[in-house]
Amino acid sequence: MTRSCCEHSESDDWRERAACIGEDPEIFFPLSDVAAPGAEASLARAVCRRCAVLVACRDWALEHGEDDGIWGATTAAQRRAIRRAAMEPAPQARRHGGGAG
Ligand code: SF4
Repeated sequence: MTRSCCEHSESDDWRERAACIGEDPEIFFPLSDVAAPGAEASLARAVCRRCAVLVACRDWALEHGEDDGIWGATTAAQRRAIRRAAMEPAPQARRHGGGAG
């Protein structure tokens, strides 16, 4: 059985409007998106870029910690970076004291 980014037990409206329906699921699950981004990831991301539900898909993958495959035009490594950045504390506002003391 092949995997697909749009074969899930949950039923969400956005999945029914996915541009990847009917596409080869293998391009959405390249063997590595870190060492060799490869043609598959590029093909998948090209499909995502014309997808009407890209944001919903990416947000779902981020919220659910999806750590495999291309979702919403992001690789697993990119989603990990987004999650790390979201967990970092906001930088402290610089004090503007207007002088010494
Ligand atoms: S953004 Fe990409 S992976 Fe997500 S539903 Fe659309 S085509 Fe599929």
